[in-house]
Amino acid sequence: SEVGPQKERVVTEEEWLQKWETGNIGFHKEQRHPLLQKHLDVLLNGRSGLRIFFPLCGKAVEMKWLADMGHSVVGVEVSEQALKDFFSEHSLPYYEEPVPEISGGKIFQSTSGNISLYCCSIYDLSSSIVGKFDGVWDRGALVAVNPRDRQRSVNCIV
Ligand code: SAH
Repeated sequence: SEVGPQKERVVTEEEWLQKWETGNIGFHKEQRHPLLQKHLDVLLNGRSGLRIFFPLCGKAVEMKWLADMGHSVVGVEVSEQALKDFFSEHSLPYYEEPVPEISGGKIFQSTSGNISLYCCSIYDLSSSIVGKFDGVWDRGALVAVNPRDRQRSVNCIV
């Protein structure tokens, strides 16, 4: 069956970095996800100025969209290239800083302050580093996590 091999499937961090370096990023979408647009009111539930988490964010265009609405966005992504592309493609000035709690970890932050993207593995983040969120947008995140790591990844988010 197909289920067996899928369950054993492992995509390494190096392979993800390689995909970004070679532009093999068919998973990236230039258009905002229609379901987020359709159900945004459910996520917001009448609230403004939310703090929204994007696990495995890539260069998701919805981050800019929500930030423009006055929310703040926190993402995590292993590929530095993805994060640099995000800021440059939206002409957003940013600065980068090391994250002392995470070995090799960096944060890329918009100078306006409302987009903070961590460059590290999601397994290196914890709420003591990133704090708490009012909402989470997962598109192509949990499915991109190796099946053997899914519980670990969910534990990071919950
Ligand atoms: N959510 C994004 C991208 C999904 S593709 C979107 O909507 O476009 C999955 C992304 O997760 C890739 O960019 C990959 O580089 C990143 N990634 C894979 N494993 C990761 C990990 N352990 N920690 C953080 N990012 C990871």
